[in-house]
Amino acid sequence: MQTIRELSCADDYDPNSMPVAKAREVIARFLDPVSAVERVHVRAGLGRVLAEDITSPLDVPAHDNSAMDGYAVRFSDLKPAGETTLKVAGNAFAGAPFAGAMQPGECVRIMTGGVIPAGADTIVMQEHVKAAGDQVTIAAGHRKGQNLRRAGEDLTAGQVALKRGSELRPADIGLIASLGIGEVMVYRRLRVAFFSTGDELVSVGTVPKEGQIYDSNRYTIHGMLTRLGCEVIDMGVVRDDPALLEQAFRQAAAAADVVITSGGVSVGEADFVKDLLNKLGEVVFWKIAMKPGRPLAYGKIAGAHFFGLPGNPVSVMVTFYQFVRHALLRLSGRDPVPTLPTFKVPCTSGLKKAPGRTEFQRGILSQDAGGAWSVRVTGEQGSGVLRSMSEANCFIILPTEQGNVSAGTLVDVQVMDGVV
Ligand code: AMP
Ligand code: MG
Repeated sequence: MQTIRELSCADDYDPNSMPVAKAREVIARFLDPVSAVERVHVRAGLGRVLAEDITSPLDVPAHDNSAMDGYAVRFSDLKPAGETTLKVAGNAFAGAPFAGAMQPGECVRIMTGGVIPAGADTIVMQEHVKAAGDQVTIAAGHRKGQNLRRAGEDLTAGQVALKRGSELRPADIGLIASLGIGEVMVYRRLRVAFFSTGDELVSVGTVPKEGQIYDSNRYTIHGMLTRLGCEVIDMGVVRDDPALLEQAFRQAAAAADVVITSGGVSVGEADFVKDLLNKLGEVVFWKIAMKPGRPLAYGKIAGAHFFGLPGNPVSVMVTFYQFVRHALLRLSGRDPVPTLPTFKVPCTSGLKKAPGRTEFQRGILSQDAGGAWSVRVTGEQGSGVLRSMSEANCFIILPTEQGNVSAGTLVDVQVMDGVV
């Protein structure tokens, strides 16, 4: 296999203007999912990634059963015209089947979920009968087999109910329990270590001196990683000092599957980090043809995957969404990795856009009184304006060659699902 550096430089792409799709493609070639698995109680599987196919050990439902409260009848007993009177031979309740065999001219009182008695083939809803003592009278107009749920209509024994690589959601947990399966095999959580770089940064709880700012990236990254189901290792703020950074990179790579940093990859700082990372591993530095989020470093350090995100708070989140999210899900064992819902809606206002880079403007997708969806841009779009991410519920993705957008134009929006 080619190395990351060879791949990234082999073709005509310029690392100083790397298209978004090309960077994704390069990263995708190096993603080797975790292989370690653990067996957990089905409830503890929520949010985890299945490491096995779940095969149904039984037919679901296990028996033909009633979809309605009513009477189980033999269709051939019903007169095609006029009324039929049948004798009620007994009851079939959920969990308490009718023991005997239903004779011609008989019916069985049955509740939803009740097992269809031998001999019956049709359910007549209780609203459609007149009951008197142990007899019921049924008008004509029924269909053979109506209101019946067939054994195995949901799943047949031996059928794959859930596939390896899927994330377990509440419906899946319920489905597994419905098969009588109490434990599932899941991949171990992906371990992700992260730290912020910058001499100007202080953490919450410290009073910033002049020129210092609060570190926010570690908080957004922590949140996004947690939403993705990763095990997080927060390594704090690391000063722009080669020795401290080297130590931090080494520690992070030894502790985690993935190392994520923010800051220190823009021009001026990159050379210093570049030398260090070249020494520790194999890392490429790209200027992605996107806005925001231009600088991005990707590679391997001592076996760990490495993402060097930009410093600006919005750029961090956009690059995380556009590159890191997919990679982490893949590494966690997700197969396929779900793409974020993307569709076209009209943009209510004009947008400023220069051709040459893919832009990820922050948008608010909403419905008008008539139920029609449209998107508007959040205010100031600067890459330091974290509020624009906080207000947004979607990205407005403007393709590379796109220029200014006039109000009313259809634009691509990508929903910020579950990560932001
Ligand atoms: P850098 O890429 O390190 O030059 O950072 C670019 C910009 O992002 C600078 O204005 C930094 O102060 C800011 N920045 C870097 N890291 C953080 C952080 N962890 N939290 C908030 N702002 C940051
Ligand atoms: Mg910095």
